[in-house]
Amino acid sequence: MNSKAKILLLYTGGTIGMRKDFDTGALKAFNFSKLLNRIPELKQLECEIETISFEEPIDSSNMNPQEWAKIASVIGDNYLGFDGFVVLHGSDTMSYSASALSFMLENLSKPVVFTGSQLPIGDLRTDAKENLITAIQIASLRENGQAVVTEVCLYFEYKLYRGNRTTKINAEHFKAFTSPNYPELVESGVNLKIRRELLLPMQQGKELVVHENLDNNVVIVKMFPGMSKTVLAAILDIQNLKGIVLETYGSGNAPTEDWFISLLLKAINKGIYIINVTQCSAGSVNMGQYDTSTAMKEIGVISGKDITTEAAITKLMYLLGQNIAATEFKMIFETSLRGEMI
Ligand code: ASP
Repeated sequence: MNSKAKILLLYTGGTIGMRKDFDTGALKAFNFSKLLNRIPELKQLECEIETISFEEPIDSSNMNPQEWAKIASVIGDNYLGFDGFVVLHGSDTMSYSASALSFMLENLSKPVVFTGSQLPIGDLRTDAKENLITAIQIASLRENGQAVVTEVCLYFEYKLYRGNRTTKINAEHFKAFTSPNYPELVESGVNLKIRRELLLPMQQGKELVVHENLDNNVVIVKMFPGMSKTVLAAILDIQNLKGIVLETYGSGNAPTEDWFISLLLKAINKGIYIINVTQCSAGSVNMGQYDTSTAMKEIGVISGKDITTEAAITKLMYLLGQNIAATEFKMIFETSLRGEMI
């Protein structure tokens, strides 16, 4: 066996590879081959790196399920030829993409590490080099010929997180991400501190299955005091709507008013799935703990437990794309598929 790990580096776009547009002064993605010329340090790494780029790199605000399918198929097509994958991606929607890919790549037994940066790689004070170099090192980690990390992760500012547990919390600081309900998997200091007990177990003897079919007939609704019946009714009336991630208060609480519960019940009876997630940045939904969530539990609202909104909406799109029987959907959603919830 080749002693050097083989890593595929996929550039999708994002600040890491952007530079200022001469005319407008705005940051725009530029040619990936030039990006690599700016990091000669990569040649010193103890691994073989091959690179591939989206034909047209994008700002991650333009990410969508079609682009996720492209990332998934690059990984699927190159799965056997590489030991690990590093996905360079804009930070704005990186948590959504890492969550989506965690569901789309079933039985993963190799690392897929998302990373990017807050400043372009050409900037003197850039955070891109550390992020990229350590992400590649983590993707190269092997023991007895076996990958150490076998899940979709996100590496940023000295921390490796489970991708579907992350959320972007800061548009300015280098520490742009957090994982509010699950500890970091690896911390990078003088040494890499790997917390093995937190990693997903290796999928022994199972073949990778790539799911590219996501259903985006979904919506995220954030509750606020004063939300009107007209507004909620209009949302629930959207043609072809199949699922809602409802961001409620605290441990999953919402108004007890009759109109609210009857609108939700009407939607559920029409076959729309309603997922209860908390709009708090940490903690879990626990329907029935307060009177203000008991009715939702009784009418069949699905508990998102401690899932992030990013993982909830992508899990919803993924499960809707799987054509799961209505009788099983709630049970499957409430089960942790890739370590995204308790
Ligand atoms: N707007 C950029 C993007 O998400 C920001 C970044 O890369 O950090 O593509």
